[in-house]
Amino acid sequence: MFVKPNIYKVDCTGAVGDSYGSYVYAIKNEHGVTLIDTYFPGKVEEIVAELKAAGMEPVDRILFTHADLDHTGNSAWLQKHYNNCPVYLSARELEAVREPAKSKSGKGGVFDGVEEPVMTVLEGEEIAGIRIIPAYGHTYGHTCFLYDKTLFAGDLICTEQDEIWEMELKFIRDREQSWKAVEDVDQACDFDLLCPSHGEPLACTTLLPFTKREG
Ligand SMILES: [Zn+2]
Repeated sequence: MFVKPNIYKVDCTGAVGDSYGSYVYAIKNEHGVTLIDTYFPGKVEEIVAELKAAGMEPVDRILFTHADLDHTGNSAWLQKHYNNCPVYLSARELEAVREPAKSKSGKGGVFDGVEEPVMTVLEGEEIAGIRIIPAYGHTYGHTCFLYDKTLFAGDLICTEQDEIWEMELKFIRDREQSWKAVEDVDQACDFDLLCPSHGEPLACTTLLPFTKREG
């Protein structure tokens, strides 16, 4: 569904029953269509069909908030399908893909068992009219994006029943860095809609206070 006139939430990437969702978003502007994240592997056909029905393809570029499998899973296939479009991630996140010690598991293996896309490092403060907001902690090089007062928060936080929550602790690489990132992003961004990867979009203008998990 469209959450703003030119911002589309790919509904087939949401949570269904017990399956864990990880929303993909598409932005359309004068630079074409930009996809944010790509869900778990094995969903290419459904994602493409939905983008097509919404008039949100062909995709011109893909941005990763971070390199976890629920965000990168279909990227190599989508890249090929859309004319070898570039796939971008932060320099730090690419470092973590290449250096196992910087990965969340400490052992690397983000693309084990799935094809790796050709990846390009994000440079500068903006890409295709979308602001790049560093937000490290969940992973070594996690990134948020801001467009049309919509904050694509990735896994910086999540939403549950119209409330902002910390991600489950087992998924966070550096909890204190992540808390700091929430404050930094909150200060740096003027937004009226929060679109996290996990949980439904929420109309709000601040990430604070958010609910911390026990532990
Ligand atoms: Zn995730």
